[in-house]
Amino acid sequence: MSAFNVAKFGGTSVANFEAMSRSASVVESNPETKLVVSSACAGVTNFLVELANGIKDADHRQEILNQLANIHFSIISELKEQEGVKKEIQAILNTVNSLAEAASFQSSNQLTDHLVACGELMSTHILAQLMRDRGMNAIRFDIREVLRTDDNFGRAEPQLDDIAALAKEKLEPLCNKYIVVTQGFIGSDEQGNTTTLGRGGSDYSAALIAEGVQAAGLEIWTDVPGIYTTDPRIAPKAKAITEISFSEASEMANFGAKILHPSTLLPALRHGIPVFVGSSREPEQGGTWIRKRVENSPLYRAVALRANQTMVTIRSAKMFQAYGFLAKVFEILAKHKVSVDLITTSEISVSLTLDKTDTSGGAPELPPAVRSELEELANVDVERNLSLVALIGNQMETKGYAKDVFSTLGDYHLRMICYGASDHNLCFLVDAEEAKAVVQKLHQDLFETDSE
Ligand code: ASP
Ligand code: MG
Repeated sequence: MSAFNVAKFGGTSVANFEAMSRSASVVESNPETKLVVSSACAGVTNFLVELANGIKDADHRQEILNQLANIHFSIISELKEQEGVKKEIQAILNTVNSLAEAASFQSSNQLTDHLVACGELMSTHILAQLMRDRGMNAIRFDIREVLRTDDNFGRAEPQLDDIAALAKEKLEPLCNKYIVVTQGFIGSDEQGNTTTLGRGGSDYSAALIAEGVQAAGLEIWTDVPGIYTTDPRIAPKAKAITEISFSEASEMANFGAKILHPSTLLPALRHGIPVFVGSSREPEQGGTWIRKRVENSPLYRAVALRANQTMVTIRSAKMFQAYGFLAKVFEILAKHKVSVDLITTSEISVSLTLDKTDTSGGAPELPPAVRSELEELANVDVERNLSLVALIGNQMETKGYAKDVFSTLGDYHLRMICYGASDHNLCFLVDAEEAKAVVQKLHQDLFETDSE
């Protein structure tokens, strides 16, 4: 195992000169940090996605390009050494310009990945230079040389063996000499085409890279000082969690806590790499450690909320005492690559929620082709306007557990209750309008009492 740390900085941690400087201080303050993974500057990926979707109006495209230039050049204007990095950014902006024009005629997932990758390619040039300005021995590295993926553009699958071999060959020797600044989110396929891991994928990249170099630790620096018992904007008495297990944290990431990309913990878990989550704005506040083993495993750890759920109910009398029905349902879903999240069944019906794989806002759609194939088997009912509430904890099968939770929520309409499949999670759907009240009530009764 390498003796060094990987530190990842999210978009808000590199949003402007001040934020980048704070992030550089965080790296400086820990001599063990040798690898820095950065997101694009805040807002940049959204602009690039807009361009990638294809904007016909050339003036509108130019406006976005101007905004992108502004974000980056205003940081550069505060650097000591500006010339080299200015040229690099200008060259990337020229690429953005031509790709955006191409996208206005015809967009594709491959083109989109190439375009949206430019955000991270730019931010890392600037961050590395800012560190050198401060006297740090920093170099920028293009992670596409190491982060090998398949060619599923937009949501590429990392190729772990290749990444491990390439990290050993190309990245580790650099980390022994320099502080290496590299990109999150992006990779490349075998042909050398640029790919991305999907929106918010920088956390996942950082974890994959940490796994590749067998890092001693992974730090995720963001704009909140760690993981909370619930979103403090919903329940102001929410508390920061100092230490949490991988199992609990994965359930949280899966069930809505926006703090980490859901796949992030897999590589860390595989190699037992402890993960720290903290705020680069207030590093002195500390944060949350995610580890394999923790000292304290409370019954109630956190409440997570995820909006925009789509529930599909498939109902058929033919299902009664039949076999193979569910297999047929899932065969259809699998054929169309529809990913399912929660599932509950009764004798003649099955309800499921659709996994949300993009960040386009709104609840995911059941594609019409899937619906019509399912309708050949059974009645299909689609409901939206639902939110998912997940209670995360430990030993949730304990006697009386469900009773406490359900009596607290006696006034609410709970649907699709999933309980018992995991020791760490109990979750259900509620009407979107009631979701916040449900989270508040749960938090109040289970987390804000004196015995807590
Ligand atoms: N810049 C990418 C995004 O905004 C990846 C990331 O920041 O995690 O989705
Ligand atoms: Mg992020």
